[in-house]
Amino acid sequence: MLKKDLGWDAYFEAIWADGKMEECVPARVVSQQRGLWRVAGEFEACWAEPSGKFRKESEEGGDWPAVGDWVAVEMRPEKQSALIQRVLPRRSRFVRKVAGKQIAEQVIVANIDVALIVAALDGDFNVRRVERYLAQCWESGARPVVVLNKADACADASELAAQIEGIAKGVPVLLVSAKTGEGLEALEAHFKKGQTIVLLGSSGVGKSSLVNRLLQEERQSTFAVRESDSRGRHTTTSRDLFLLPNGTMLIDTPGLRELQLWNAGEGLAQTFADVDELASKCRFTDCQHVNEPGCAVQEALASGKLDANRLESWRKLQREQEFLERKVDSEIGAAHNKRIKILMRQVRQNYRDRDKGKN
Ligand code: GDP
Ligand code: ZN
Repeated sequence: MLKKDLGWDAYFEAIWADGKMEECVPARVVSQQRGLWRVAGEFEACWAEPSGKFRKESEEGGDWPAVGDWVAVEMRPEKQSALIQRVLPRRSRFVRKVAGKQIAEQVIVANIDVALIVAALDGDFNVRRVERYLAQCWESGARPVVVLNKADACADASELAAQIEGIAKGVPVLLVSAKTGEGLEALEAHFKKGQTIVLLGSSGVGKSSLVNRLLQEERQSTFAVRESDSRGRHTTTSRDLFLLPNGTMLIDTPGLRELQLWNAGEGLAQTFADVDELASKCRFTDCQHVNEPGCAVQEALASGKLDANRLESWRKLQREQEFLERKVDSEIGAAHNKRIKILMRQVRQNYRDRDKGKN
């Protein structure tokens, strides 16, 4: 398959020309499962793993290859596999804080043009969750589109769509049904050949059903594992890149049970531009927007211009982001102190050795 049909363009060409990777060829990561990556390029799609050198030089986490990444691989034809030597700098990336207590970044997908934030209009509809996705999405560098699925199962679909439009200024909001096909043409109007689109959202919102509809067939990857491939089977827990009939690449991600923000300060500011704008009009620059005189936020609440839930959501996400920043700072601080300690111990040892030498 040609590189350009996988999204390769002048940006990556320039990086490649700069990189001097003679032994390698460019490849795109089209699937990721535990510890295994599937890559496609101008060769038969195959499995790949990071080389020893790459493992040594990169930290597991943000530096690790993700679906959508362009990587430099060394082919190992005798093993029908490839070694990943390098991840090319990403043009965009959707990240989150890894689930659980650990303070680290996880890259969900890389090099995406459009992010479809999928929510379902049945029981589990939640405006605040869409806000959270929007914040991380604005941070990613991809253009967000909100897709409200299961329109067929909801009596007041357009009312809920209006709620989302209220909190997602400038973002297209589409009503669709993967079941009936309603709204899919409007959705496909956002797909351009050569672009990469990702589906994000909780599990159960209908992402797989949408993929099937858009592929016009049962979910079957262009880069699917053949019988002769002994390593690993395709599972629904993996992230996969599909090629749509019109030449758009679509990445499906398994439902994220939680999306904790990661480094989303600017994304938050963009998502809550209306609240930020109000806050900038408060009399005191350090206004907490509780009961200070001249608080523009409280005024907007009183007049109904600002929804109390939205303000609460803003506060919550701000707190989450600030907590994370403090954690990261203190961990960096701790690592720094540890390095200094080791260094000082060495210095003292050197002095002792020198003094011994004198005697
Ligand atoms: P995913 O976890 O996001 O991939 O969600 P699935 O595609 O597996 O769908 C979850 C459930 O919702 C399945 O039972 C689907 O049949 C159902 N579903 C998906 N799309 C629609 C839709 O547009 N309308 C209705 N009524 N049900 C849907
Ligand atoms: Zn205020």
